[in-house]
Parts: sequence; C-alpha cells; structure tokens
Amino acid sequence: MTLETIGIIGGGQLGRMLAIAAARLNFRTIILEPQADCPAAQVANRQIVAAYDDPAALDELARECRVVTYEFENVPVAAAERLAALRTVYPPPKALEVAQDRLTEKRFLNDCGIETAKFHAVDSQADLERALEDFGGKGVLKTRRLGYDGKGQRVFRTPDDSTSGVFEAMGSVPLIVESFVPFEREVSVIAARGTDGTIEAYDLAENVHRNGILHTSTLPARIGEATTVAARAASERLLAGLDYVGVIGMEFFVMADGTLIANEIAPRVHNSGHWTEAACVVSQFEQHIRAVAGLSLGSPARHSDCVMTNLIGDDMNDVAGWLARPNVLVHLYGKAEARPGRKMGHVTELLR
Ligand code: AMP
Repeated sequence: MTLETIGIIGGGQLGRMLAIAAARLNFRTIILEPQADCPAAQVANRQIVAAYDDPAALDELARECRVVTYEFENVPVAAAERLAALRTVYPPPKALEVAQDRLTEKRFLNDCGIETAKFHAVDSQADLERALEDFGGKGVLKTRRLGYDGKGQRVFRTPDDSTSGVFEAMGSVPLIVESFVPFEREVSVIAARGTDGTIEAYDLAENVHRNGILHTSTLPARIGEATTVAARAASERLLAGLDYVGVIGMEFFVMADGTLIANEIAPRVHNSGHWTEAACVVSQFEQHIRAVAGLSLGSPARHSDCVMTNLIGDDMNDVAGWLARPNVLVHLYGKAEARPGRKMGHVTELLR
C-alpha cells in the first residue's frame, strides 16, 4: 500500500506536532522550511529546504503531496494560491488573507456577526491622534501585519500618554488602533471543520500571558455556560464564513458580564490548544490532520481538568522537576538553543 503524503509549510513546533499526529494515522509528511533541521523536520519524512515562496519548492510540494497545509499564518498568500492552483490547500488561502491583516480580520469578524473592539485604521500621525481622541485617549496601537506575541504594539492607558512621534517610531507602517477593552479574563476556543462541513469545538481555555507570550492555559475556564455557547457559535459562524477546513484558534476577551469580544484568530493549530493532547482522546493536532485528510473528525470531549504551561527560554531548567511529577505530559520541541522568549516546549498537568 502506498502511504499518502501531507505537505506542511513551516517547520516550527506546531509543524512538529502535526507531523507526529500524521504519522500515527499512517500519513507521510514533507516540511517546507528554509531552516535546515527545524523542529518539524526532525520528526517528518522529508524536508524541502527552501523559502516559503520558492516556486520550484512549491511545485515539488504540490507534486509530492495529496494535500498541503500550514502551521503559521504568515505564509505568503501568493505562495498558498500558487499551490492551491495545483493541489488542495487546507485551510483555504482566504483564511491567511484574513488573519494576516488586523484590519481585514476585524472587518471579517464583524461581517460574520462577531463583536470585536472598536477600531480605526491608522496611516499617519494625524490618523493616530484622531483615533485616540475618538476613544477618549485610551487604546491599543498595533501594526496591521506581522505582529505576534505582543510585538509591534503600544498601549495608551490614559489621555496623558504622549503620542508624539509614535507613528514614525512604529516604523511608519499601516497600523490599527483598537479601543481599550477592560476585560476580566482571556479565553480561546479551538474548533475544527471537516470537508463535509461538520464542526467540532473543544472546551474554552483560560489563558494567562506574560510579556505578551502565552504562559498558561487552564481548563476549565472560569466562565458560565452562556459564554461557552457564545464562543462556540462565533467559531461556527467564522468557520462557515471562510468555508474552512482544518483547526482554527480564536482568542476572546471576557467582560465582567460574561460577554465576549473577539481579539484575534489563528488559521492553524494554536498554543492554547496544546492541552488537548493530554486531556482529550483526539488532540487538536490529530483533529487538524483528520480534517485536511478528509477523515471524520474526532470527539473534542475533555476527560480531565488540566493546566498547560509553556516552557520559555530558561524554563528548560525545570524539565527534570516536571518529569518527576505524576500526571504531567512533557513535550519538548527539539530546539538546541534556549534563547530568552523562545518557546522550547510545554507541559500539561492533569488535575483530576
Ligand atoms: P494580541 O497580539 O492582539 O493578541 O494582543 C496581545 C495582548 O495584549 C492580549 O492578549 C491582551 O492581553 C492585550 N490586548 C490586546 N488588545 C487589547 C485591547 N484592545 N484592549 C485591552 N488589552 C488588549
């Protein structure tokens, strides 16, 4: 029997975990990633070492694979479209287009009936001042493109915060100002849509960030049933709106009254869903592989309460301690150098 091959663009830890899940279901994987010996390639069948938009590499990936997916949202849209002309690409390239630009993303969410913070596009210093004035001097300024883990952001907490020269200091690139959301907590939902349109969503995780990077995801989140229902409904509208296939991550702010404000979406498996590998029978990684391969989705039921903690930089020194504890699943990413701020692994502790 010839085994089928799934192509994955991007060679980080998410690609690594997708490749492991794929192998368990008898799929071969090819990783497209410019950095040799990347975390994903260490556990995949093959790596094409080339830029994400290298035409020859993309054509080879299309030739060799039955379906191509990706593990990060900044895959060049033109590359995904070139591939999609030759081979099935899931999630659809449209999802990349929406997720890569915070302005497009917010408008798309609003068009799907999903509430976000209020926002204004900012293309000049004058735009910035007008926008902040509209929001009473408070707001969060973000680059429209290529921001992640809190990078490329500036918070204005009071009307006295100086705006002088800020547009230039942010690089004179297209920006967006969002109204400041006085949220009570942050949650995310990981949902999946299959090729037959079936949708399954995992329980909501409650997320705590440190220095703009996810620190922990805790299950269950301290929210009421209505909040869970609203998040799931939002993810269903978004997935249907994008005619999506695969796993998506959606982050929300939870207000004191339990209502939700969508913050951002990630058209891929998501860090705040890593707990699913320890607390569910079918993890988000397997769910994504099932979806893009056209298989039936697994149950997202959770059998345990748990806390997932990211191991960032020097947190690698704690691995021996985590390994000595019962009910902890340790997952390391095969990165040689533990630089500050670098995600090196994660642990999920089952609580009961
Ligand atoms: P983001 O890169 O959009 O996920 O933002 C990083 C973090 O900044 C979020 O997880 C929030 O903690 C905070 N943040 C982002 N946008 C807002 C906002 N409009 N109001 C209040 N806090 C925000």
